[in-house]
Amino acid sequence: MTELPHSAGILPAGLTTADFARALADFAAAIGEEHTHTDAETLAEYGDPYRPAGTGTRASAVLLPGSVAEVQAVVRLANRYRIPLWTVSQGRNFGYGGGSPRVPGSVIVSLRRMDRVLEVNEDLAYAVVEPGVSFEKLYETLRAGNHRLTVSVPDIGWGSIIGNTLDHGYGFTWYGDHAERACGMEVVLPDGDLLRTGMGALTGGHAWHVHRRGFGPAAESLFMQSNFGIVTRMGVWLMPTPECYAPCFLKVPADSDLERLVGIVRGLLLDRTIQNIPLLADGLMLASAVARRDRWWPGPGPVPDDVITRILDELGLGRWNVRFALYGSEHIVDAQLSTIREAVSGIPGAELIAAEHSGDAAPADIPVPDHVQAGIPNREMLGALNWRGGRAGNLNFSPVAPLSGTHIRRLIDLLRPVMHDAGFDCLSAVMLTPRSGIAIFGLVYDSDDHDQVERAFAACREMVETAGRHGYGEYRSHLDVMDHVSGRFDFNDHAQRRFNQKIKDALDPHGILSPGKQGIWPGRTP
Ligand SMILES: Cc1cc2nc3c(=O)[nH]c(=O)nc-3n(C[C@H](O)[C@H](O)[C@H](O)COP(=O)(O)OP(=O)(O)OC[C@H]3O[C@@H](n4cnc5c(N)ncnc54)[C@H](O)[C@@H]3O)c2cc1C
Repeated sequence: MTELPHSAGILPAGLTTADFARALADFAAAIGEEHTHTDAETLAEYGDPYRPAGTGTRASAVLLPGSVAEVQAVVRLANRYRIPLWTVSQGRNFGYGGGSPRVPGSVIVSLRRMDRVLEVNEDLAYAVVEPGVSFEKLYETLRAGNHRLTVSVPDIGWGSIIGNTLDHGYGFTWYGDHAERACGMEVVLPDGDLLRTGMGALTGGHAWHVHRRGFGPAAESLFMQSNFGIVTRMGVWLMPTPECYAPCFLKVPADSDLERLVGIVRGLLLDRTIQNIPLLADGLMLASAVARRDRWWPGPGPVPDDVITRILDELGLGRWNVRFALYGSEHIVDAQLSTIREAVSGIPGAELIAAEHSGDAAPADIPVPDHVQAGIPNREMLGALNWRGGRAGNLNFSPVAPLSGTHIRRLIDLLRPVMHDAGFDCLSAVMLTPRSGIAIFGLVYDSDDHDQVERAFAACREMVETAGRHGYGEYRSHLDVMDHVSGRFDFNDHAQRRFNQKIKDALDPHGILSPGKQGIWPGRTP
């Protein structure tokens, strides 16, 4: 609902109410009054869902442009009025700040209306999408068109392919490293100019979405985790739907076997017996998705170790568990499975459970926990953060380590005490690639409980410092700790920060685009 002039009570810094009313009228003229919102309900939709109501950084308006030309018009007006914008595709970056901006009074540019699947190429196995296309929408489009193509999806399927990819998001098929599978972008630059990357820079270029570089520097990574442009189109490579899909679950009972387990899985990833992104999860993390902690432990502090043992026994979970999947023709999957069984047979008490489905099985034919690795989007995990009761919420701390048991163990030894001291359980999982482990330490809380939320953010900041001092940096972060995280990437007197700021100031002299994102602040603020 549009309520003009502005009524939500917060303005972009430096603008009077009259200035902002004029700017809103110009935005409305450019994109339509019905797509220019200042009402509290719409603004709340783009807040951080995992904070007490009314807290967090507030925006002043939400704009929903419907085309590239409208995005360009919005950017040019923001330059004229010196208004900070904050871009989101779906704005569902839950656990990392949702759709909220870094600078109070920013205007959200939501690209939800730009939701066309522009192309599906069956032979070359890719699609081209606008920013509002969710994983769910691409999945439905592929099924409706009977395409034998599978999209890699994150644990929650309602987010956008472009927003998730730009934030270096992960799914869990062969193509789970989403940034690696993006190919060819169109980008509105901070001055309103329009750039096509790679082979798209060639007018009429045929190889835009099939070849990941062009002539000269490859610019695509510069638009990921940055504030250098608004991506309005992107190619995404898709996995040919396999004949057979085999979800697997490996349980290891003893904590002391972590190092051995990681070494074995690394070998299987390096020789490509396993080709997806496996998830190594501690048993308590998996238990936290099943029930509230007070079912087993009513006390305020972390669940004691003997109680954890009882929980894992009751739920049939290992201390360490690996979720992974195999894809291909049936005889190849069977051969891979027997290689894996052999590899893990030396781990005392290890249990490997595997199922086999047709690669194009319908959602109803596969148990919901196995959907994600099949590329079937779902929203089940949204309800899985209820460990502390109340209104479910979480804050993820996500450091990266070399894929060795020693490093994973060191991270846990460093971070568990910080989480425990703050009164949280240490819930951890690691996404595995052949050479690195991307850890997720989940601080799960009741979003309405101010004290829990404050303790979680304080613990997260401390984890940034602790991990950083020991050489572990984050792959992604919540908005409110971005300056802390970027501050730890400090080699040579913060050469990376200085480099990013030079690019920022060259591209965005008025500093209007997502100021502060990833700790990149413009020299001049709007
Ligand atoms: C329980 C739970 C499970 C989760 N599981 C996963 C998981 O498995 N994998 C995973 O990756 N994430 C996961 N997440 C995190 C998050 O929910 C997803 O990554 C989600 O897809 C991100 O939301 P979005 O796609 O709407 O991105 P958005 O919120 O739209 O954008 C994400 C970021 O990219 C920037 N951006 C967005 N669009 C553009 C654009 N067009 N141009 C320039 N910049 C842009 C935004 O400023 C923002 O910083 C999980 C979260 C929770 C709570």
